[in-house]
Amino acid sequence: MEDISHILDPLNPAQREAVTADTGNRLVLAGAGSGKTRVLVHRIAWLLQVQDVRPWHVLAVTFTNKAAREMKGRIEEMLDEPIGGMWVGTFHGLAHRFLRAHWQDAGLPQHFQILDSDDQFRLIKRILKALELDESRWPPRQAQGFINSHKDEGRRPPHIDAAGDFFLEQQLRIYRAYQEACEKAGSIDFAELLLRAHELLRDRPDILHHYRERFAHILVDEFQDTNAIQYAWLRLLAGDRDNLFLVGDDDQSIYGWRGARVENIQSFQRDYPNTQIVRLEQNYRSTSNILGAANALIANNPSRLGKNLWTEDSAGEPIRRYAAFNEIDEARFVVERIRRASQDEGMARSDCAILYRTTAQSRLFEEALIQAGLPYRVYGGQRFFERAEIKDALAYLRLVANPSDETAFERIVNLPPRAIGPRTLDLLRTQARADGSTLWEAARVAVSQPLLPARATGALRGFLELIEGLAASAEAEQELPDLVAEVLEASGLPAHFEKNKDGRGIERLENLEQLVEATRRFAAEVPNDEGDILGSFLAHAALEAGDAQADGFEDSVQLMTLHSAKGLEFPLVFITGVEEGLFPHSMSATDPNRLEEERRLCYVGMTRAKRLLYLTHAESRRLHGREDYAMPSRFLREVPAELIEEVRGGGVSRPHGGRAASGFGAMGFGARRSGTGSKAGAATVDAGGGFQLGQRVRHPKFGPGVVLNAEGHGSGARIQINFESAGAKWLVLEYARLEPA
Ligand code: ATP
Ligand code: MG
Repeated sequence: MEDISHILDPLNPAQREAVTADTGNRLVLAGAGSGKTRVLVHRIAWLLQVQDVRPWHVLAVTFTNKAAREMKGRIEEMLDEPIGGMWVGTFHGLAHRFLRAHWQDAGLPQHFQILDSDDQFRLIKRILKALELDESRWPPRQAQGFINSHKDEGRRPPHIDAAGDFFLEQQLRIYRAYQEACEKAGSIDFAELLLRAHELLRDRPDILHHYRERFAHILVDEFQDTNAIQYAWLRLLAGDRDNLFLVGDDDQSIYGWRGARVENIQSFQRDYPNTQIVRLEQNYRSTSNILGAANALIANNPSRLGKNLWTEDSAGEPIRRYAAFNEIDEARFVVERIRRASQDEGMARSDCAILYRTTAQSRLFEEALIQAGLPYRVYGGQRFFERAEIKDALAYLRLVANPSDETAFERIVNLPPRAIGPRTLDLLRTQARADGSTLWEAARVAVSQPLLPARATGALRGFLELIEGLAASAEAEQELPDLVAEVLEASGLPAHFEKNKDGRGIERLENLEQLVEATRRFAAEVPNDEGDILGSFLAHAALEAGDAQADGFEDSVQLMTLHSAKGLEFPLVFITGVEEGLFPHSMSATDPNRLEEERRLCYVGMTRAKRLLYLTHAESRRLHGREDYAMPSRFLREVPAELIEEVRGGGVSRPHGGRAASGFGAMGFGARRSGTGSKAGAATVDAGGGFQLGQRVRHPKFGPGVVLNAEGHGSGARIQINFESAGAKWLVLEYARLEPA
């Protein structure tokens, strides 16, 4: 018999049982870090190696593209050979694959384009305008939410009964007009990918039959965060074959706000009564202090399926809590701890993660990391492919691939400026609406008739010829990177950005170069037989969740939202901004269901930590241009006091040779037990000259800022201020002419 010890040895008995189980529906319901993902991966390796299942008979669904790549890599490592033909991906990625293969049956043009949420938003704004609906009364975000949530539930406009409700009627009207515009342009949004793929399987028994035969084994990670349409899709594909292997944790359902339904766990058990539930109770990730804290926190949620989770690991370090004066002090503290861990204790930077509730919080950490000279990566922030200049460039490529792409047309018809003004555009829009044609077609008509002033006609003709010329190049089967370079050059975008005076010109040009690089990498990875490589690349750009950027770079500190940390683990974790109003978020604090979801998010965050967990909060915080004073989060109180140790400030790096002022040195590195509810005394530390650390001040030249640090005495006293406009600077206190702000 073949050696299968590498598949089974790294598993405990409960995990082994799940991995080697006969076919039949299985639901692995277990807490964080109990090895669910490991079980899924080993199960696939087991099927392939021991059960001789062919790779193309396996369908595996992960929550991110990164997780999909890692899963594939792990399995190939275990089997020591490449596994071609296996479908591993996110629901969206897999749906896209279906639709690419069956575009005709799905009623799509061959080169359909994916609208990301920003494209979708812009399109909805244009629809509101066309429908003459006032944006202040009918906010585009609301319409976007309406459309997406109905699609996530599988509802098209005819399925929605407005029942004479004026609000609903208007939303429906927008939904219809939006859908029409998408059909005309041949573009589809994220929710539509899933809905269309579902309808395709539902309405075409032959296609469904084919895939049912093909996917003898269907495995899903993070099942607790599937939405209605995804679950319906799984049910369709599985039929009555009893071949579903799902893993999940109800305590980690954190996407309810986006339509995920944790109830799918119960529905599954109801819909497939023969399902065997597998429970894993040993946690292999965290110290018992961290696990104890997370367990205690989540116990505050009343509606849980309930489970045990224990670890053999030692107690480990206590959880550290830091009360910062403000958000700048918080960033300084976190970065200083990371600097110490990486420089003094030899920890890899990539072992350190900074987690936050909202993306807006990342900027200060980034600044502090830059200042400390620590490389970092932001996951899931603004994706590379979402940067304005990249979207501009992609819009050229999209229009080249598909001239009906209205979103792309609108974006670049006058970018760089080529004298195609708003009046010309309005005329095109009106014309297109009247004829039921696309903007491209309307433009074709416009240049062949004396409709527009000569100058506008000339400009428009130039634009059409430019795109047509590039489309001819694309047809000529060039290499993708060469084509992209040609399109960029011809577009005039590089020259335009170079001239641009906003100071970001160089960065933009570099990003455009990165885009060509990205196509090179992509072309090297994608097998040649995929045909339409430009189309594949554009889909990749729309679907890639931004996590790929973080791969393969130098050892960097990891920054991400709590949501995007799901499934990951790090030796050292900082959960920041643990304040009422921010976490739990103010939008969730009054709704018990949403509050529970925030608590699950906190549970997800805490259980990412393997060895050491910091919880930080700031007494005052400037966010979105407003300064707020915040109470420490209720989540801090829900962690047993004996597991937490309060840390006081300190650890501030000083420039060479500087001696700490007496008050500053007093901050020390000491830690003391909390439980008394008292906060770190550092807030009162004098930074000299009557200023305090964290205090807001104003400088006659640099404007407003915050006191970060101080050193020296008397005439040698220096003070470090982080200025809003000029960044951090050391100033001689005597001459600084600072005023309290
Ligand atoms: P999450 O709920 O956060 O997604 P999970 O249940 O998927 O967690 P894994 O990520 O699979 O858990 O495993 C957590 C950690 O424990 C990983 O580092 C994994 O390699 C390790 N691990 C899992 N099972 C075992 C085992 N039997 N022996 C040793 N280590 C294990
Ligand atoms: Mg997992």
